Amino acid sequence: MRANCWLGKGTVDVLDVPEPRILNNHDAIIRITRTAICGSDLHLFNGFIPTMKKGDILGHEFMGEVVEVGREVKNLAVGDRVVVPFPIACGQCNACHDGAYSVCENSNPNAGLAEKILGHAPAGIFGYSHMLGGYPGGQAEYARVPFADVGPVKVPAGMDDEQVLFLSDILPTGYMGAEMCDISPGDVVAVWGAGPVGQFAIASAFLLGAERVIAIDRLPYRLQMAQEKSGAEPVNYAESDVREELLELTGGRGPDACIDAVGLEAHHSSPPAYAYDRAKQMTHLESDRPFALRQAIRNCRNGGTVSVIGVYGGFVDKFPMGSLMNRSLTLRAGQCHVQRYTKPLLERIQAGQLDPSFVITHRMGLDDAPSAFETFLNKEDECVKVVLTP
Ligand code: NAD
Ligand code: ZN
Ligand code: ZN
Repeated sequence: MRANCWLGKGTVDVLDVPEPRILNNHDAIIRITRTAICGSDLHLFNGFIPTMKKGDILGHEFMGEVVEVGREVKNLAVGDRVVVPFPIACGQCNACHDGAYSVCENSNPNAGLAEKILGHAPAGIFGYSHMLGGYPGGQAEYARVPFADVGPVKVPAGMDDEQVLFLSDILPTGYMGAEMCDISPGDVVAVWGAGPVGQFAIASAFLLGAERVIAIDRLPYRLQMAQEKSGAEPVNYAESDVREELLELTGGRGPDACIDAVGLEAHHSSPPAYAYDRAKQMTHLESDRPFALRQAIRNCRNGGTVSVIGVYGGFVDKFPMGSLMNRSLTLRAGQCHVQRYTKPLLERIQAGQLDPSFVITHRMGLDDAPSAFETFLNKEDECVKVVLTP
C-alpha cells in the first residue's frame, strides 16, 4: 500500500509499504478514506521529536471503512464507517476510567522510553514516534487500529467525511482547550494561534459561553477566518503590541483565560511585547522560546486560567513561574482525551451548531503529501488545513 513516511528532518515521501495485519484480537483494520496533516506532524517534520525512525508512517487524523476485525471486537463490523481518535486507549485502566484517555496506562509499549523523557508514560499515539508507542500512522491506505471497541466512532449515514474527520483530533482538542478554561458567562478568552486547532478553540470558547474571544496570530488570512467564521476579535502580533492590545480590549485587567494553541515552534519575530520590562531587566522575555506560552501566562488576568493545548516536548526554559505563582493562575494542559468528546461533539455537528469543515482550504491526494507538508509548513497559498484522500 501507499503510505506517507518520515525519512528524516524535513523529508517525507509516499512509499510502497506492507499492508497492516491484525496483531491482536481487539484490533481492526481500516481502509482510509480521508486523512489530514496536523500542526503536530510539523514537530516531527521539523525534527523536534527525537524518537522517530526512518520509514515511520505518519498521520494521526484519519477515518475510513472497517475491512477486518479481530475475534474479540464486539462493537464494530466490516463495512462500518468510523473516525479514529488519535490517542490509543484501552478503555479499562484507571486513566481510561477517569476519561483521561491520552494517558492510558496500557497503550504505550515503549513506556520505558517515554518515562526517561517525560517522567511517566502517556498513551500511544498513531504515527507519533517511538516514545509514544511507535504505531504506524494513518497517512496511508490502511491502518491497524488497536482497542477497536474503545476509540473508533461510527459515522451516522448521511454525514460526509469532511463533516466528521476532525473528531479524530483537532475539534476535540480545541474544545478541550476551551473547556479547561472553565468559562463563565461574560468571560473574555484569548487564543494564541489561529491555526486549525486555534480556530476550534475559538469556536468552542463561544459554544461554552465566552462573551468575547480574542484571536492572536500574525497571518491575516487566519485571523480573518477566526473573525468571519466564529466572531473573534483579531490581534496581529506582527503589527501591534499584544500586551497593549489585550489591556485595551479588557479594560486593563487581561483576559479571564488564555489558550496556547501554538506549541513549541512559536515564532518570536514580533515587535517587543515586553518593552516596558526592559527597565526591570526582563528583556530576555522577548527572544526566548516559547514566546506564545510566556505571553499567555503573563497577560492572563490575576486568578485566571492558562490552558495549554499547543504541544511541547522535553524541557522549556524561562518559564514564568513567578507570574503563575504570585498571581494565583491555574495552568492546565494535555494531549486531548479525544474519546471523551467524540459523542457530544458529533451531536453538536448533527444539530447544526458547528460545521468543522470550514477550516479545510486544501484537498489533495495521498501521493501529494510531500508538497502538502511544505504548503502547510510554510503557510503558503493561504493554507489552513490540508485533507488528503488515499
Ligand atoms: P499550525 O502550525 O497550523 O498553527 C499554529 C499557528 O500559531 C500558526 O497560525 C502560527 O502563525 C501561529 N503562531 C506562531 N507563533 C505565534 C505566536 N508567537 N503568537 C501567536 N500565534 C503564533 O498548527 P495547528 O494544527 O493549529 O496546531 C497548533 C498546535 O496544537 C500545535 O502545537 C499542535 O501540535 C498542537 N496540537 C495539540 C493537540 C493536543 O491534543 N493537545 C492536538 C492537535 C494539535
Ligand atoms: Zn493532530
Ligand atoms: Zn487505558
